[in-house]
Amino acid sequence: MSLIKLEKVSKYYKSEDTVSVGMKNVDLELDLGEFVVVTGESGSGKSTLLNVISGLDGYESGELYLFGEETSHYLISDWEKYRGAYVGFVFQNYNIIDSYTVLQNVLLALEIQEYDKAKRKQRALELIEKVGLLRHKNHRASKLSGGEKQRLVIARALAKDCPIIAADEPTGNLDSESGKQILQLLHSVSKDKLVILVTHDYEQAEQYATRKIKMHDGEIVEDKVLKHTEDIELKQFEPRKMKLSTLMKIAIRNLLSTPKRLIFMLLMQIIAAVVFVSVYSSLIAGIRETGLSQSSRFPTVPETRLLVEKRDGSEFTNDDLNALAKMRHVDHVYKYAQNFYNTAHLMIYIDGSKDDFYHRPYYVRSTDTAARLSKNDVEGRIPTAKNEIVFSSYYSDIQIGDKVTIGLTDYDVYYYAYEKEYLIEIGTFTVVGIDKLNRSTVYFSEEYLNQIPQNVANIDFKAFQGNISQMLYNMEITDQYDNTYKFGGPDWVDSDLYIPHFTDGILQTNLDITIKTTTEYGKEIELHFENIRYMGPKLEDLINPYAYIGLELYELIIDEFRERTLDNYILEDQHLVSISVGGFYAGSKILKNIDSDKYRVYYPSYIFEPMRELLVFLQTLLAILVLSLIGMLLGFIIQIVTKNIMRSRQKDFAIYRSIGANKYILARLVVFEQILLSIIAFMFTLIALIILKTYVYNISKTILYIQFIDYIIILAILILLGMRIGLKFNRKVFNQSVIETLSESRED
Ligand code: ADP
Ligand code: MG
Repeated sequence: MSLIKLEKVSKYYKSEDTVSVGMKNVDLELDLGEFVVVTGESGSGKSTLLNVISGLDGYESGELYLFGEETSHYLISDWEKYRGAYVGFVFQNYNIIDSYTVLQNVLLALEIQEYDKAKRKQRALELIEKVGLLRHKNHRASKLSGGEKQRLVIARALAKDCPIIAADEPTGNLDSESGKQILQLLHSVSKDKLVILVTHDYEQAEQYATRKIKMHDGEIVEDKVLKHTEDIELKQFEPRKMKLSTLMKIAIRNLLSTPKRLIFMLLMQIIAAVVFVSVYSSLIAGIRETGLSQSSRFPTVPETRLLVEKRDGSEFTNDDLNALAKMRHVDHVYKYAQNFYNTAHLMIYIDGSKDDFYHRPYYVRSTDTAARLSKNDVEGRIPTAKNEIVFSSYYSDIQIGDKVTIGLTDYDVYYYAYEKEYLIEIGTFTVVGIDKLNRSTVYFSEEYLNQIPQNVANIDFKAFQGNISQMLYNMEITDQYDNTYKFGGPDWVDSDLYIPHFTDGILQTNLDITIKTTTEYGKEIELHFENIRYMGPKLEDLINPYAYIGLELYELIIDEFRERTLDNYILEDQHLVSISVGGFYAGSKILKNIDSDKYRVYYPSYIFEPMRELLVFLQTLLAILVLSLIGMLLGFIIQIVTKNIMRSRQKDFAIYRSIGANKYILARLVVFEQILLSIIAFMFTLIALIILKTYVYNISKTILYIQFIDYIIILAILILLGMRIGLKFNRKVFNQSVIETLSESRED
């Protein structure tokens, strides 16, 4: 039985309108030990014969037997197995991977056959030594001379320890001296093997040939045995399956061996990812903000705060606090819940250093503790001492180092309270940082806020427990004639005590009134005032069932509220804790998640408007549309670029195949490379975003809304996109024969 036997094998090349003959009716038997030189003029079919024999190309008719087995039913995978296990290739065009080093080129062949890992490198070096390239072992293959490249190819062919060596014009591009060396080398490794050498220069190879085959017009015209060879038994070779770790190694090597390509691909993916993340995050921010907005009832309470109490009215134990702190979306649990309400109504006075703004009041929308701030968001630093504070960049004339006096007032009077005398000062603070995010929030130090309960007895603002403006709106006023009125809002007339409408236009003095109201937490407060002077009526007051209060009376009422609510302050505090969260979105989640049989949750600053659900839905649709379009555009760009990059790798892929990598291996290799690339790109993207976040405030504003899961989604999209392109390319490569791919890559 011959190693290889051809029976009337013909091969035609079909192009659009012509069919040309590659070879026809070739009968041939080849065996181990032979050094067959195939010769003939250009176009005579030498390469065709070699390619068919070595399984690089198919044939149309006849039968090729390998080891006595018919091959006409062979599938691509069978050919791959055959090539991988039995054939080593040496081509005219030095098919080596240019970006690899000499050592890596040889290692690749050993890796693909999963050669014993411990001996892999040693074996590779032996082979490199054998072909005389040891001193070049760490040089890039592209730097070698033609002769050296061809020697490297031979070393790699030998790495497979394969019985057949197919060499197509291996000296064709070499000077005669190098050519001679290559033939010598081929001869020296040919024992026990079948070497098929295609050359148009028969003389050069004559001395080594054991058999001469001459071709003409696709037919064998001469077949002469020059030396008889002994029978050699074929060693059966079972290629081992490649391990995942080996593939991984090759994938990493492929990325690193072409640093320019790597950087380019990374940059492209990073830019795409940053664009995508930015669009994605602003859309997400939009969606998550819709339907969530600051309550107009509690306009100054921070959206970062919720209040929790136990439904059974008992105090919080440490276990309770810990359990709350561990919940998702909870940033922090603060024992002293009330503080954030008390400090919610602020007027800020800048100290007298600036003439223009000596009495300039700032209405501060909300306050919170600076411990929640990210250092990146703060220019300057986070306050640590009691008298330090972080301001929002919103208040643009306040700068680091400024001293500000902070006073409390009621939300509804702030407009009138230009004068310091209407404020209850809580202290003077030094601005140590500016919150770049412009959240119109003022941040106190943790220490300051924690101390409030202890200082409570001597700080006036405990009177602001609850929400005084709310209490005013709840106010019911009754006079001694049992007329009842509602509080008419902040429409007072200078400093007169002014309660119109009491007795229908008759000026009235010595009015006794009782004012009833409830605090937010349901406590009823009743105040009684005597000898109030009534100044009315005004025309509109006659129609209007409201009582309007002058500032003096208002202050009297406030004072009374202070006194009345003071006693219960500490008591209430122990039953109420405050949870800090990232914002409305997190807060709304907590409202849902923590509110239970055990806890009651208040989220004063939050309202949900049901109409907005529709809006959210529409916004989501729009977002999906926009993202798909952008994704498609970016994907398209990446695809075009990647495709071109992949094309430049066609040759490498053909080489992988020629040394035994099959479709599956290459597919996995491509996928690994893409996943690695995406992960690296993704990490750089994160770094890029963090840097951008620090310097570009608008980005950080929207990035706040991106959650971990969003990042995972983006990573998955990147990976899928990369995989799709890689696999598509892989399919294309495998739709061609190795030879077609090689010649195509040569044309490029
Ligand atoms: P050689 O190697 O002896 O120069 P080939 O085997 O390459 O000859 O070619 C044999 C014949 O087949 C030639 O006529 C050549 O034009 C034709 N041929 C070879 N490869 C192709 C191909 N890919 N497409 C079309 N014709 C081809
Ligand atoms: Mg040829």
